[in-house]
Amino acid sequence: MAQEAAQGPIYIMKEGSQSTTGRDAQYNNIMAAMAVAGSVVSTLGPKGMDKMLVDSTGDIVVTNDGVTILRKMDIEHPAAKMIVEVAKTQDAQVGDGTTTAVVLAGELLKQAGILLERNVHPAAIIKGYGMAAKKALELIDDMAIKVSEKDVEMLRKIAGTSFTGKDSENAREFLSDMVVKAVARMMEKDSKGNYEVDTKNFVLVKKAGGEVADSKIVEGVVIDKGIVSFQMPRKLKNAKVLAMEYGFDARDTKLDAEYKVKSNVGFQAFRDEEDRQVREQVERVAKLGVTAVFTTQAINDLAQNYMAKYGIIGLRRLKRSDVDRVAKASGGQVITNLDDISQIDIGTVGQIEEIDVGDDKMTVLTGCKDNNVISFILRAPTTHIVDEYERGIDDALHAVETSIKDGKIVPGGAAVETELSLRLRQYAATVQGKEQLSIQAFADALEIIPKALAMNAGLNAIDSMIELKTKHGGKGGRNFGLNVYTGKSVDMVKAGVVEPLRIKTQAVESAVEAVQMILRIDDVLAATQVKPPAGPQGGPGGYGM
Ligand code: ADP
Ligand code: MG
Repeated sequence: MAQEAAQGPIYIMKEGSQSTTGRDAQYNNIMAAMAVAGSVVSTLGPKGMDKMLVDSTGDIVVTNDGVTILRKMDIEHPAAKMIVEVAKTQDAQVGDGTTTAVVLAGELLKQAGILLERNVHPAAIIKGYGMAAKKALELIDDMAIKVSEKDVEMLRKIAGTSFTGKDSENAREFLSDMVVKAVARMMEKDSKGNYEVDTKNFVLVKKAGGEVADSKIVEGVVIDKGIVSFQMPRKLKNAKVLAMEYGFDARDTKLDAEYKVKSNVGFQAFRDEEDRQVREQVERVAKLGVTAVFTTQAINDLAQNYMAKYGIIGLRRLKRSDVDRVAKASGGQVITNLDDISQIDIGTVGQIEEIDVGDDKMTVLTGCKDNNVISFILRAPTTHIVDEYERGIDDALHAVETSIKDGKIVPGGAAVETELSLRLRQYAATVQGKEQLSIQAFADALEIIPKALAMNAGLNAIDSMIELKTKHGGKGGRNFGLNVYTGKSVDMVKAGVVEPLRIKTQAVESAVEAVQMILRIDDVLAATQVKPPAGPQGGPGGYGM
């Protein structure tokens, strides 16, 4: 000690670095993580509110989707970021339940904070939470109900539950039906009998203006573009399709430079050469019997004329993903030059048709060789609503897919969380020491889900909780959840509010993992922020300060 005092403090980090230690660090992290959860809790459930997010460019997003909100929030605090990761993991693994996972993580930390104040060591909390999570996963599995791809009615209900809060009542049934049809079509069984859904098979084309009921499901490919020239047919049966990353225009750029309109003669020669090149390209394709061309690149006026003469339709300047999808759906290949093109590169589809959607033209390919491809044309009154429906569809697609893959679903409306809370309290009683307190804290934390559902619906959270607990305590009540419309506890399976099992297991797993990680931290060592170099004469960022 004396030696240390004589030498003065020893710095092990760069001057200006910040360090927060012990309790301070823990509380600081807990508060930050809780703030993240607090920012989304009001959006939970069918009656949850929406958030309006405005980014630095003034773009507006109105949503109730947990992961979307957190992604847009630009969160900086390191512990808060770990909670955002929970949402991202949930989104990647299940595609739904992101708010639930984050809210649960926040509440687990809040309860941990209370235990810390009571001088429970973080290690005991970490261990107790781990035990509780393990038990919870068993209990969730025990509550599961079997489902298969044939239970179409049940799958519609899963989609419907997933849409909560992102729909209007009339849209839900309609969209749920579309979602189930889409998954059924995309789903393929692999050699081991496992289901695979290739999301590349699906495309959603959005068009604001109009009603949801004007939306369409297309068993094929939809391209958000019309046919390039009015001289071409609007509709084609049994089309031979060529997908290209190649343009129909003059190739030889040297020509351009040489003739640079020096004289009328030169210009005419240039035009003749261009004409010859383009005609050759089109003729080559026509000879192979191609009747429809889809390209990422240009189709110039000359080419359009020649194509029209041969009765070939063309779509130009498409996204590469659209061209890929056309190739896949028609059984062809995307070609990048015309030199060694052959019949195997050419695909076929039953019909190609240009349709009107609102004021726009789209092109629809049906009767495709590959019958896993499917598209939605999504309509809704405004762009903000269309975007929110898109997020809802994305959640619902994943929920249905996950349910079929796992073959297991659970009741929604906080039935699972209420049951878990009750059973974990019983379990806690069998455990000794500080871990017991931690398992109880875990049980308390789970109650945030029924409480938030109730509060967001304008119900009294305590009353709703008591009624739910009474039902779960009684016989045959474990599927009871909160009907947010009436405030009553009802059997959620009978009410058709069901969710994939994995929504709940993943939420518990990733929430606990993040919480344990945050609790393990007792030191935050932050390097000094690197300041951007000041520009000449106090340029950007300078302001003469
Ligand atoms: P998350 O991002 O967690 O999916 P949501 O806002 O989608 O958040 O809300 C999901 C919660 O709403 C789940 O607990 C689910 O069971 C519940 N829920 C969905 N539909 C209903 C319903 N009709 N009645 C009661 N609860 C519902
Ligand atoms: Mg959801």
